[in-house]
Amino acid sequence: MQRIGIAPGLVACLLAARVDAFPAEMINDAGPGAKRINTIIVGDGFRDSDQAALTTQGKAVWDTMRSYASYGNYAAFLNVKLIHAVSSDYGARGGDHPPSSPTIFDGYFGCGGIDRLPCLGNETALWQVIRESAPEYDPSHDLLIVLLNDTKYGGGTGTYVIFSVGAGPSIAVHESGHAFAALDDEYSSSGGGACGADCPGPNTTTIADPTQIKWRLWIEPGTPVPTPEGSVPPQTIGLFEGAHYMPTGAYRPRQNCVMRQGDTTFCAPCGEALVLGLYAKTDPIETPIPEDTAVKIGPSGCVRLSYDGPKPNPNTLESIWTIDTAAAGAGTSLDVSASALGQGSHTVELTVTDKTGLVRKDVNGTLTSKRSWTVAVDPSGSNQACVDGGTGGTAGVGGSAGTARSADAETAGNDPGPRGDPIDRTGCLCNLARHDRSGHAALLLVAAALALRSRRADRVRR
Ligand SMILES: [Zn+2]
Repeated sequence: MQRIGIAPGLVACLLAARVDAFPAEMINDAGPGAKRINTIIVGDGFRDSDQAALTTQGKAVWDTMRSYASYGNYAAFLNVKLIHAVSSDYGARGGDHPPSSPTIFDGYFGCGGIDRLPCLGNETALWQVIRESAPEYDPSHDLLIVLLNDTKYGGGTGTYVIFSVGAGPSIAVHESGHAFAALDDEYSSSGGGACGADCPGPNTTTIADPTQIKWRLWIEPGTPVPTPEGSVPPQTIGLFEGAHYMPTGAYRPRQNCVMRQGDTTFCAPCGEALVLGLYAKTDPIETPIPEDTAVKIGPSGCVRLSYDGPKPNPNTLESIWTIDTAAAGAGTSLDVSASALGQGSHTVELTVTDKTGLVRKDVNGTLTSKRSWTVAVDPSGSNQACVDGGTGGTAGVGGSAGTARSADAETAGNDPGPRGDPIDRTGCLCNLARHDRSGHAALLLVAAALALRSRRADRVRR
């Protein structure tokens, strides 16, 4: 997708502009921003009377994202907030409907002389709106999407993603791959990329040795490596030449992928990286109960240890308990009784592991979370029993006979499964230019956008 620049000369005169907070709505409310992956969507060129349409567009972005298993299964890890920024007229300069007066962020087509590349003339207003309308995600948002209310096709990316309603939401999915999982572009059509010793992302490589390929756990025995185009079914993971802007010398996992062309599914290694990326801020043991790690119970007492937190859907979390390193049960809670523990101090440990089939390689243990409590049996402790449902009952038995009520097997809701329906592929922007994700500052320095782009392309090639 095209990178975005900024309108020459427009920023300085708008620096003093003041923008009040706008109403906002949660398209997907998963929990506290500090512990979730956060996407902000904001509209440009939407009048008061267009706000319902903006909601429809915002929901379409999220609906498209969650139709991919990595997002649909992990919706509880993802916040999506829509800000209802209001413009005095609709459309975008240079678009199908040029507005009669500047829109709130002054969106326009023809950025850097490229007809289908939209930019914002007033980024100052954008950052003000984010600060004031989504303070909980500023600056901790992970993906910022600007929806341009014009039917003309166009999109671009830099410190934020921008695309027109005429382009549709699939661009957001490709860009989220960069934002959430540091995925590389898998396309080669731009030509001239370079990877050094190896490509940086989890989904591209220069290494053709079958024992060293990053995604080798996804390559089934018998698959030719490298994998000639068309030699295997389309979903097969192998080693396909042409990736990271290089027609030769760099490889990708599958014939096609969202990161190669934005109208297909994520390949398995990309989906794996996304799931691992979604765990960056989220701990399934978000709320250990009790929160205090030191627990004291009396000689006939009992304590129920448990946890709560975001869960994938279907719930692929496995919860294992040990007492003094000995297996004690499985499930989201464990009743630990003094009679089973015996006098003294004991360590109860909970290990929660996401056993999702979307991940095969987790070298950093990202999918595993641990929590331990020290349970002391002491005459000064409470002799309260563990009570089921708050209605009374017998004390639970701890230790190896601990009763564990597992929620691990439950599957609430539907697994949307891998995306199968192709998105409209007319005029995909993904192949028009390469990304330069380091280019925050570059956004402010594109007065001579075309010349800079040319030089930047050279730099990326090297
Ligand atoms: Zn991929």
